[in-house]
Amino acid sequence: MPQAARTLARSGDRQTWARHLWALPMLLSLIFVAAVVAWLQRTDTLDREERRQTMIADALTLETQLRGQLDFESQQLEEVARSLQQNAISAEQFGRVAEINAGLGRVWQSVTWLDKDNRVLAHVSSASADPSALLPTTATAESVRGISSHLVASIPGARSNISGSLVARYSPTALLKRGVPWWLARKYYVRLTDSLDQTLAASEDSPPLKTYGTLGFPRISYALSFDPPIRDASLELTEHAAFVPWYRGLPPVLMAGFLALVLIATWMLRRQMQGVLRAEAAWRTEAAWRSAMEDSMVVGLRARDFNGRLVYVNRTFAEMVGWPQDALVGMITPMPYWLPDQIEETMQRHLRNMAGDAPREGYEARWRHRDGHNLDVMVFETPLVDASGQQIGWMGSILEITERKLMEERDRKQADTLAHHARLTMLGEIASTLAHELNQPLTAIASYNAGVINSLKRDGVTDADVHDALQRLGEQAAQAGRIVQRIREFLTRREPVRESCEIHQVVVNAIALFRRELDRHQVAITLNNLNETVRVTADPVLIEQVIINLLRNATDALISTRDRQIEVTIHIAGERFLRIDVTDNGPGLAGRGIKQLCTAFYSTKSEGMGMGLAICRSIIEAHEGAFDACEVPSNFAKSGAQFSLSLPLAQATRAQVLIEQHLHEACE
Ligand code: ADP
Repeated sequence: MPQAARTLARSGDRQTWARHLWALPMLLSLIFVAAVVAWLQRTDTLDREERRQTMIADALTLETQLRGQLDFESQQLEEVARSLQQNAISAEQFGRVAEINAGLGRVWQSVTWLDKDNRVLAHVSSASADPSALLPTTATAESVRGISSHLVASIPGARSNISGSLVARYSPTALLKRGVPWWLARKYYVRLTDSLDQTLAASEDSPPLKTYGTLGFPRISYALSFDPPIRDASLELTEHAAFVPWYRGLPPVLMAGFLALVLIATWMLRRQMQGVLRAEAAWRTEAAWRSAMEDSMVVGLRARDFNGRLVYVNRTFAEMVGWPQDALVGMITPMPYWLPDQIEETMQRHLRNMAGDAPREGYEARWRHRDGHNLDVMVFETPLVDASGQQIGWMGSILEITERKLMEERDRKQADTLAHHARLTMLGEIASTLAHELNQPLTAIASYNAGVINSLKRDGVTDADVHDALQRLGEQAAQAGRIVQRIREFLTRREPVRESCEIHQVVVNAIALFRRELDRHQVAITLNNLNETVRVTADPVLIEQVIINLLRNATDALISTRDRQIEVTIHIAGERFLRIDVTDNGPGLAGRGIKQLCTAFYSTKSEGMGMGLAICRSIIEAHEGAFDACEVPSNFAKSGAQFSLSLPLAQATRAQVLIEQHLHEACE
């Protein structure tokens, strides 16, 4: 996987992780609550187990006690049976036996005396017993409701025979009430049950509920067999609800409250985190946009604090000066891209900028790239402000203008060369004109001088001084003629260096050179050329000069025109020539012909030299071409001038034109 993809995947994982981070406190809280609940349950289980153990011990103790009690009752009944036989107690005396009344005062409900055939001899119950014989504080067993049970004792007779039996009916309930100690009764509900789980006797009238507490925990109970002494009976202990102080119920409430609070807090946290994530995502997008924009900019950016320390540079700036961004950030003056021989001057400029006096329209500077080449830049300084609007330094926007400067330099050189050529051509033309104009008077002076000398000779005038003077006059005139001739030869325009060249390119170059002037005067120019490969035999530099001259004249003529237009048309004229028309929609020629316009020193402009068209004509004629001017064709504009020049076609083009013309004629 490429590095960028890995970084993206990692940041995606981080994002997903961060998106669910809000759930972590909730999760931890749930774990905490679960741990507390588990701990409580364990404590509760241990507690129940302990209670159960205690209960088993208590049940065994109680069982022993109850058995002891019943054993005691059985012994008492047997005691009564023995005393009946020993004391020969009659049926009438039976109700007054003290042990019987004592038994009735405890748990007995009635005592029945049966003979050996189970016929009732006497019967006494707690209801029929002598109340004075009963213990006054004791609740009689009769008053206790519930199922009864029996104790049987045999009455011994003579010769070891059984003369009858005593049956004591007793109340197990009373037994329980008497037998269960108070501290046990407070802890447990005790009952005796039969095999069908029906209550035979209970320590309390109303049984407790099967469960206790709001959570419905089952009550602990423990049963053990009580057979014998009572058939199929079990002794069962069930715990009473222990006293639970109010704060024992707090943990669940607190847990519930805690969970509710955690839930609310988690929800708020989630909202908060979602907001933060949204803000972060927006910030990331913005940062990505910003850095993409900054990096794709052609403008270099550099931020500096008030001490001149670079605090930020964009990629364009780093590439401009050839230093890595990381290395640039933190740098202080003098910067490595300053020109070493201009440190002093650059430092002055830097101090001026730091003082806030940098020109608003920007300033030009020259820096040195790390690889050693120089670059020209345009710098615009603006205040650097932080989020609170406080200025913390300066932000510089830097535009590299090296190319522009080079082009300007090239243009300037080209314009200079052109002007130089034009000047030379003009001087040549002037010299030629002067030589031409002066030659005749000088020749006349020389001829007249020769005539005068001959006349004087003929008339016999022999004055040596006159002859000498006239001789000198002739010599001076000849000398003047030679000087003029030499000047003419020296300044004469250069002869055209003719070569085969693409005229389209020559015209395009001329327009390009004059483009700035055209733009300055808001003149629209159109070039019409059907065949761009047409070649002529000409000096491209001189033809360029002619075209520029015609364009300049047309631009001058358009000064007072609103919708300024120039059209340059190149077309083939006949078999041998190419024609270029330069047409404008200016005021036109006002009836002036080419002869007048091309007269040396003829100009209607206040600062005109009047040599331009003369030179043009000379150049074109030197190329064996023709130069002409006329009013504009009416299909182009209402008024205007059209200057035309023709040039001989190059050999190859001429042959091609001939073939085309023949083909055309053949077709017709
Ligand atoms: P200069 O430009 O110095 O005046 P030129 O020889 O180039 O000299 O032009 C001579 C005169 O021809 C100009 O002064 C002007 O009156 C006239 N002329 C040249 N071109 C045009 C034109 N396109 N439209 C009208 N008049 C023109």
